This record gives sequence, structure tokens and C-alpha cells, in this order.
Amino acid sequence: HKGEALIRSTGLSAGYHGQPIVHDLDLEVRAGEMVGLFGANGAGKTTTLLTLAGEIKPLGGTLEFDGAPHPGSLHQAAKNGLALLTDDRSIFAPLTVRDNLRLGRGSVADALSHFPELEEHLDRQAGLLSGGQQQILSVARILASQPKVVLADELSLGLAPLIVKRLLAALRSAADAGAAVLIVEQHVPVALSTVDRALVLVRGSIALESDARTLRATPDVISDLYLAA
Ligand code: ATP
Repeated sequence: HKGEALIRSTGLSAGYHGQPIVHDLDLEVRAGEMVGLFGANGAGKTTTLLTLAGEIKPLGGTLEFDGAPHPGSLHQAAKNGLALLTDDRSIFAPLTVRDNLRLGRGSVADALSHFPELEEHLDRQAGLLSGGQQQILSVARILASQPKVVLADELSLGLAPLIVKRLLAALRSAADAGAAVLIVEQHVPVALSTVDRALVLVRGSIALESDARTLRATPDVISDLYLAA
């Protein structure tokens, strides 16, 4: 029932200054699927996401985006429907919420369909929103553009549990609508309750790949792997 792989790596290695941080990664995320990438600090989660996004050049292996070789830059991949979300909220503080949404590639209505709670703030200056509301605004703007692939790197860092749930639910609905979604998330239990599948990185390699349902039933498995780092 899942669609084709929209992002896929084979034997991927990547790092900095020619030194690999992640090794031999085979991973794919299919249309309609939401996958969690977990692992201890320094395991290589961010490096993996940045490489899949095109922000870091692979040191080896192959990388495909939407059935073709990755275009090789985040700029070009973004034009073709890849979205990289981070915890640095890319909003225009002096503008209203409505104008922030208008500056995106999707419609205001589509943004509100993901986050109806933004409607009451449409005429407020974005810079006056709480941190959580600003993150909701920046994610709403991106999801309104209906990206094919969403790579989310700890986008809920420091936010209240209720906001974390809202952000993850919106990413879930983007996946249900056909996007391929890969998230790095430190709130492991809530992430596990949202994703279909999980990968755990230990020192730059995939140490575990499992469906989320199995991991929800065996919660110690992931924390044990964090300790293995
Ligand atoms: P965290 O949860 O701490 O962000 P992570 O799993 O996302 O961890 P990465 O951020 O990918 O891990 O970092 C993996 C390793 O790569 C770390 O040892 C880090 O010091 C190193 N690293 C990260 N960015 C750079 C950089 N720009 N230059 C050199 N080394 C880097």
C-alpha cells in the first residue's frame, strides 16, 4: 500500500573534511511513510539528514531523490519538492502570520488545513508569537507547499509537549497524504507513537531497523542502544 521510495541511499557514507561520520547507510522512505531516525548524541543523525537533503556531499554510495539521482544541492532538491525542517524557525518576524504564509509556496488555506489554530493569529505579527507558535507557522508554511520529502531534524527542540504532538501530527498527516517523512526526534516515545518504522544509529551505522509497533512493545531496546554509544 505504500508508494515508491522518494528518498533512498545505498552504501552511503558522509562526514566532514573527508572523514566519514556515517557509514554504509542503506535507507529509504517511501511515499506515505513516516520513519524515525534515533540515536545518541553524536551518532550521526544530523549528518545523515543533511546528506539526504543535499547540504553535505556524500563521501561514497548513491543517493536518489524521487526516482532519480539526487540533484546534489539542497537548493535544487528544494525546488523539486524536498523540505528540510530544523529547529531554527524560518519566519519573517516583522510580517503578519498571513503574510508569512503568503510568502510560502503553498496557499494560506493549505497551511490552515494542517494547523487550524493559526487562523486566529493571521493578523498578528509573527515575531510576537510564542516560540512554539513560530515553529508551527514555519512548518505550516512548508507543508502548505506539499513537499514530496520532508526531513525534520529535532524541530521540536525545547517546545512544550502539546506543541510537539501538534507538529508530529501534522507531519503524520503530510505522510498520510503521500509525502515521505523522516524525522529525528529526541522525544522518543511520542515519536514512536507517530512513525511507521524506526532506525537507530550507533556510531554512524544503522544498528536497528524495526517497525514502530514492535518497538512500542519493547521500549528498552532503543534506550539500550543509546547506552551502547
Ligand atoms: P546530536 O544529537 O548531538 O545532534 P547527531 O546524532 O545528530 O547528534 P551529528 O550532529 O550528525 O550527530 O554529529 C556526528 C559527529 O559529527 C559528531 O562527532 C560531531 O562532532 C561531528 N560533526 C558535526 N558537524 C560537524 C562539522 N560541521 N564539522 C566537523 N564535524 C562535525
